[in-house]
Amino acid sequence: MKIIERTEERILTADVFEREAGGTPRNGTGSVTEAQRELPVYHETDVVVVGGGPSGSAAAAAAAAAGARVTLLERYNHLGGLATGGLVIWIDRMTDWAGELVIRGFAEEVLGRLPADAIAGPTVPEWGSQDAERARHWSMRTAAWHGIVTWSPTIDPERLKLASQEMLLERGVRLVYHSWACVPLMENSAAAGVIFESKEGRMAIRAKVVIDATGDGDIFARAGAAYDSDIEQNDAHHCMNTAWLFGGVDMAQWINFRQGNPDGFSAFMAKGRIDCGLFEKPYVSWRDDIALFMGPRQSGYSGLNVDDLSEVEIRSHRAMQSHLDFYRRHAPGFEQAYMLTSAPQIGVRHTRRLVGVDAVLRSRWSEGTPLPDEVAVSPAVSPKFPNISIPYGALVPKELDGLLACGRHISCDRNSHGFMREIPQCWLTGQAAGAAAALAVRAGVAPRALSVAALQAELVRQGVYLRQADADTAAVDTAQAYAMR
Ligand SMILES: Cc1cc2nc3c(=O)[nH]c(=O)nc-3n(C[C@H](O)[C@H](O)[C@H](O)COP(=O)(O)OP(=O)(O)OC[C@H]3O[C@@H](n4cnc5c(N)ncnc54)[C@H](O)[C@@H]3O)c2cc1C
Repeated sequence: MKIIERTEERILTADVFEREAGGTPRNGTGSVTEAQRELPVYHETDVVVVGGGPSGSAAAAAAAAAGARVTLLERYNHLGGLATGGLVIWIDRMTDWAGELVIRGFAEEVLGRLPADAIAGPTVPEWGSQDAERARHWSMRTAAWHGIVTWSPTIDPERLKLASQEMLLERGVRLVYHSWACVPLMENSAAAGVIFESKEGRMAIRAKVVIDATGDGDIFARAGAAYDSDIEQNDAHHCMNTAWLFGGVDMAQWINFRQGNPDGFSAFMAKGRIDCGLFEKPYVSWRDDIALFMGPRQSGYSGLNVDDLSEVEIRSHRAMQSHLDFYRRHAPGFEQAYMLTSAPQIGVRHTRRLVGVDAVLRSRWSEGTPLPDEVAVSPAVSPKFPNISIPYGALVPKELDGLLACGRHISCDRNSHGFMREIPQCWLTGQAAGAAAALAVRAGVAPRALSVAALQAELVRQGVYLRQADADTAAVDTAQAYAMR
């Protein structure tokens, strides 16, 4: 086990558990030939969004708001991806270190639709506060870091599913659940739709622009686009686990113990690591009688390997059992705990990252100036850095037309992935990809040839926070800057 400490470049302190030997080897040999077949075209649309996680939901909403006909395919039965089905119900920081809300647009609207009892976090006047008492309070409730109160609430996943779904339906998006996209439809080397599997069998959707919001780059990888898969060892972003919730707890009592008895808490953690092997501490949820476990974080597994996915599920479900036994016996506030639910979506933080015409880069973190093709602004990982400019080029494949990427597989280096994969940033890049796809369809151009000025104007119209680049760098000739070389 390795303990990753919080630094100026990483927000979390986390235990990481390395892969163990085990599992049953495959006994398959050789290959089989699948017969060629004609597929029915299920639907024709302007924009098809593959994946209904935070990025896909925002992309579909933004494309529809910009006037496109939009179809969204999702393999499960709900929207929200890991933020709902993965029980990642802690929405990371949406304010910058001065307390300004910089994650806006779709993100602000969808959270604003949650009923008051479905979202927990500091009030607006507290955002950015450095008051020691308030920071101490919120530090145990997912909303204070480096002594600064942040807007990083916890939410009821069912309410977020519903709010996302209704926002998309209001905008006229066609939602297709229970449908797993397998391969892109290609025409003249460009993506022109997707082929998907469902209970009806295999069908195709034709689209003018495909948005890959699968989180794993399933579609761009199968279309032949280049991607990176290197990892930052000193971050948790290479870990997998299935999250879960315990009900029947008293989180106020737990927090009193954790804050009031640091030695007792250290002894508790040490004993837990020995007794349970894989061990994790709880986070608060949107209610004080429900505890959230987003670990134990397991490294050395691949979210693209079905045996690894199965193994992490098995280990996580066993860990849920051992944690219940241990916490009931030793954790103040957990005496009456019960297994409320484990996540229907396995927690995969990282698999592939697109190689785009540009990228979010660690080398630019200190710059603080808007890039000329800025389509989103992210808070930095710590107050040491200014807000970070997200370029449109991070969504555009270097060498594939007809497709844009958004969410946790956008083009970035491995350090920047640590925050670009967070839910608020996925909402932002999703909104940018959706608006861009719609404008490209309207203009009849490839996404790489889109006018960035027009895209920025549309995003501002949709409530996204953007800044003005310096006059001498403001104009981006995308046809020139993003051309395939
Ligand atoms: C354990 C864990 C803890 C985390 N902690 C935090 C945190 O505290 N705060 C925070 O903000 N972020 C956190 N994150 C990161 C964040 O949850 C994800 O990176 C984010 O949800 C990614 O959004 P996305 O839209 O890119 O992808 P996802 O949320 O993965 O959504 C992708 C969607 O696409 C669907 N899909 C995938 N492939 C296909 C296909 N082929 N066909 C059809 N549908 C498909 C999936 O079913 C899913 O609904 C955490 C992640 C994990 C795993």
